[in-house]
Order: sequence, then C-alpha cells, then structure tokens
Amino acid sequence: MKILFASAEIFPFAKSGGLADIAHALPVALSRQKVDVTAVMPLYRFVDRERFAIRPLGERLSLDLGSRRYDAELFACRFDGIEILFVHHPLLCDRDHLYGPPGEGYEENDLRFAIFCHAIVALAQRHRFTHLHLNDWHTALAAPLAHDAGLRAKILFTIHNLAYQGLFPKSSLERTGVSPRHFRMEELEFYGQVNWMKGGIAHADAVTTVSPTYAVEIQEPEYGCGLDGFLRLHRRKLSGILNGIDTDLYDPSIDDSIAATFTAERMEGKARCKRELLEDLDINKYELPLFIFIGRFVEQKGLDLLLDAMPKLLKLPLNLLILGDGEAAYAAALERLGRRFANLRIRVGYDEALSRRMYAGGDFLLMPSRFEPCGLNQMIAMRYGTLPVVHAVGGLRDTVHPIGRASKVCGLGFPFVKMEPPALLGAVEEALSLFGKKGSLEEVRRFDMGCDFSIRKCASRYLDLYRSLL
Ligand code: ADP
Repeated sequence: MKILFASAEIFPFAKSGGLADIAHALPVALSRQKVDVTAVMPLYRFVDRERFAIRPLGERLSLDLGSRRYDAELFACRFDGIEILFVHHPLLCDRDHLYGPPGEGYEENDLRFAIFCHAIVALAQRHRFTHLHLNDWHTALAAPLAHDAGLRAKILFTIHNLAYQGLFPKSSLERTGVSPRHFRMEELEFYGQVNWMKGGIAHADAVTTVSPTYAVEIQEPEYGCGLDGFLRLHRRKLSGILNGIDTDLYDPSIDDSIAATFTAERMEGKARCKRELLEDLDINKYELPLFIFIGRFVEQKGLDLLLDAMPKLLKLPLNLLILGDGEAAYAAALERLGRRFANLRIRVGYDEALSRRMYAGGDFLLMPSRFEPCGLNQMIAMRYGTLPVVHAVGGLRDTVHPIGRASKVCGLGFPFVKMEPPALLGAVEEALSLFGKKGSLEEVRRFDMGCDFSIRKCASRYLDLYRSLL
C-alpha cells in the first residue's frame, strides 16, 4: 500500500482551519502505523521554505489543461517523519492568501486548483501510488481526472466541509482541462454550473466525512447544501470517521506556548494560565469563569446566534474572550459590543499562540456552530480541561455529551439542541452552575482531559478503509 494524501493546506505550512490540522496529523499517525504515506500540497508563496528546509527536487510536471500546458515544479521536505511534496506553479502559489482575501475567493481558483489536481494525478502516475486520498473540493477534481488518465489507484474522498463545493461556471471546464463528457448530472454538473465536490463523490471508491453524525446529516436537505439527494444516491460508499487531534502537539503537560504546564492530576498550572491571560487582557475579575470562542467569523460558526445572545450573555457573571477572523461585518459587530461591555474582549486575526493560551487558560469554550462537520476546537479544549458549550450538531454531537449521564461517555460538556439564544443561554447557565461547585468542576475537567481524542484511533479506521478498497 502506498498512499498519496492530497490537501490544499497542511499544518504548519499553511492553515485556514481544521483541514490543515488533519492533513498533518492523519498522515503522521498513519506513518506511525507503518503505512507508506506521502502528503502533497501547493507551495504557496507564504510557506516558509527555509524554516522547513523545503528543497527543490529538480523535477517538473508537465500538465496539459485543455489547450494550454503548465509546467509545475516539485519541492519536498521531511516533516514529523513523513515526506511532504510541494507543487509549485506561480499561478497557483503566488498569492497572499490561500483561497482569497477574508470572505472572498480568487477568481482564478478553478485554474489554480485544477493545476494542483492535474499535478496530483501526474504524481500518482509517476510514483505508482495505490491510493489517492483527496480532501475537500480543492482536490476533488483529481478523481475524474485520475479516471481519464486510466489510473488504477483507489480513490478515497473526504468531505471536511460540504458547504464549500468548488462551484464554477460551465466555461471553466475548458481552461481546467476537464472533458465536457463529465458535465452531466451524475458527475460534475450542478444547476448549470461545474461542481468539483460532485466530481469527487461520483468518482471516489469511498467517501468519508469527518464525523459519523455529519455523514447522516448531509443526506438530509437541512445540511445537504443541495447535495443531499446526490449523497443518498452514493450512501453505500459513504461513512463517517471521527477526526482526532494530534495529542503530542496539543498537550498541556509539555506545551511551551502556555504560561504553565499542567496535567489532569496537577491542575495548578491551568490556574496560572488563566491568571496570565486575564492580566494580559486587562481583566481583573479573576474569580469569574472565562469563556472563550476561537474560530472563523462565518455563519457556520454560529456568529449570528452568539451576537443575538450577547447582550444577555454578557450580563451574566462571566468574562468572554473571542479570537477569530473572517467576515468583516461580524468582526465589526463584535468590536462594537466589545466597546460596550467590560467583560468582553475581541481579538481579530489568526493567532496560533494566543489560541493555545486561551485553550489552556479558559474555563469554558463556546461553540454554537450552525453545522459542524467535526470540529477540532472542542477536542483541543477538553484536552486542556476547558469544558465545551456546543450546539449539538455534527461532530459536536459525537464528541460532547451532557454531564450527569449514567454512563460517562467521552467527552462531557454542555450541548444544547435548539439553535436559539435561550438554549445557548441555558447551557451557559448550566456551565456557571458547575463552576460554582469546585469539586464537581474539577472532576469533569479531569474526566475530559483523560478522554482519548487522539488521531491514532482515526488513523486505524482509515487504514481499515484503505485495506478494504484493495
Ligand atoms: P474549521 O471549520 O475552521 O476547520 P475546526 O474546529 O475543524 O474548524 O478547526 C479549527 C482549527 O483552527 C483549530 O485548530 C482552531 O484552534 C484553529 N483556529 C481557528 N481560528 C483561529 C484563529 N483565529 N487563531 C488561531 N487558531 C484558530
């Protein structure tokens, strides 16, 4: 077995969200289980070549996209024990952002990622990979292209987020080098447009989503983003494998970006992390619980609900720290509230170090996502003893269970069912009530810190799936 794992983003080279985390953690975990796996991503301009000792391979890929030829250059490095290949072509890589400025997509994204997809197929041919593991729309086109190229490799397509499907006008078929044969309802055609995600689903031997509940939800109109019928058609090859986190990377007992390390047995460090964070934020009400929110400012993450609930939420005895970036309107609305309420702090931007200090120093994580394919924040939070308050949907439903169940299942937190302010506020009140019972709070924290959300389990499931395809 020889796996090519393709993703538009891989941590720590480039990251916009959970996809990058998994695209790092899963190949690493697979290679530790003795699987021969190579990861591939574009070599964006902002990837730090020096820091990661990324070297040119002196090899080129000559890619035919319709009437035009593109020469891509190959680079590589070893990272965490695996080989990472990088595809470079100026059109694909010489940009300031991954997909576009916040809230927007580059107009040439079809051409950009078509170059990447053609490169993936060329690599698979050259190195005789037995499996292509494609992730999200950016790599989905490689599935039909692989079939056109007569590739024998098995194709696994993972949907990390169905909301982003890679939709382009029909005219883009030509410049992306896709045969018009594929422009039919059973494949790429979607209400007159080209839909890459559909191509990935149609041509894959197996399709996975990143949590079992999401695999079921997306077959329903409410969460199917227009593809529910198409997914029902392909349901026999569709399954959900819960993502995991890199528990070596997210480990409060050795994390050097936090003020003090701690473990489930020795929690003093967590209190120091909180104190340091609050001092930094210029908040002196240390005794109040600290709620955190980390994530992209987009509708998916429940920003509307949070904003609606905020006036009442902020009257409760708590502090709230929000970190994120994305749509400017959300950031502006949050900052306006930040000026009104002394117990609210807003940090706009992408800040890995601050996010870790928040996971470590927070008491509760707010994650009111409208939908959530899996969600990593809640798992990272629990690893750091920060209890999640979540909308019980998708992966959040699979990972956060109400406290007080007879049998304790991993993990515990405060799920709420209705996507409405009273439900969110009710869950927050429950959290506040637990916060008042120090012994019980510590017990739940310790329980969550002991839960196994490691990527190891997830990797074993993928390994079984790869084997089953042979
Ligand atoms: P997404 O839908 O964005 O992929 P996930 O929960 O799967 O959501 O993953 C989010 C990942 O990105 C987590 O590792 C989280 O800590 C990180 N993250 C999100 N926004 C920020 C930010 N503004 N600064 C730092 N890290 C962030």
